[in-house]
This record gives sequence, C-alpha cells and structure tokens, in this order.
Amino acid sequence: MRNEQQGRCQCEKISYSFEHSKLISAHHCHCLDCQRATGSGKATIMIVPKKHVRLDGELKYFEVKGSSGSHIRRGFCENCGSGILSYAKEVPHILYIKAGTLDDSSWLKIDSNFFTDSSHDWNEPSEAPKSFKRNPTVSSNFITLLKSFK
Ligand SMILES: [Zn+2]
Ligand SMILES: [Zn+2]
Repeated sequence: MRNEQQGRCQCEKISYSFEHSKLISAHHCHCLDCQRATGSGKATIMIVPKKHVRLDGELKYFEVKGSSGSHIRRGFCENCGSGILSYAKEVPHILYIKAGTLDDSSWLKIDSNFFTDSSHDWNEPSEAPKSFKRNPTVSSNFITLLKSFK
C-alpha cells in the first residue's frame, strides 16, 4: 500500500490526497442523512485531520443540522455531483472523506459502524469491532477525541 493516498470525483475536477499514516479511523455511517446524500444504504467515511489533506478544486457545500445539534456540511463536486467529504461546522479541522472516492480503497479497514439504529436489512452493518446505535458523540467522548487531533 502506498503511503500517499489519492482520490477524486467522477469528472476529475476535484481531487485530494493525504498520507495514509494521518488517517485516524474509518467508519460506516448508516444515518438517514448519509443514506439520502449517497443514495445508498450508508456512507463509508475516513476521518483525517484537515491540515493533512491536500484538496484540489472547489467543493460546493450543503449544510444540514445533525441529530447531535451540530451542523454537518457535505461537500460535493458541483459539476458531476460526487460526494467527496463532509465535516461538522463545530469541529472544522476534522474531515470525513468518503472512502468510495479513493483511487484505491482495497487497504481500508472499518473501525466501527455509526447509527446502526437506522440501518436496513438490505444493508446490514458489517462486523466492525464496534457499533453505535446512534451518533457516537452521544455514547462516547468521540468529539473530545477528535478535538485532541487539532
Ligand atoms: Zn466532478
Ligand atoms: Zn451519517
């Protein structure tokens, strides 16, 4: 596996790269917002500190209020509609990059499932080490952990 990981949108107007060693964790999110935003059963996200991500191209953002009260901004390519990343407005230094946009995602290991409460029988949560019925911020010090990566 290369340390330098790259990804892009479908029309290639947006691309990004980060070092694999900077990846904090990876998750399947089964929340209804992610289902709607991706048009599928879940979003698979990689958590990487923003300062370690090189982004080329300008994303268009759509903002929704998350269940925990934070504001989630989902960034996508205005030209082809590919969802690239999202972040909470309240924790802007942490990016959630959509794993499906990687050029090579074969190395990815999933650490946990989020919002399994809203997962469907046709898209059951994988057997990740941990699952959270809802947002992990409710049941753990997840946000505190993320803030420590500043
Ligand atoms: Zn595009
Ligand atoms: Zn979600």
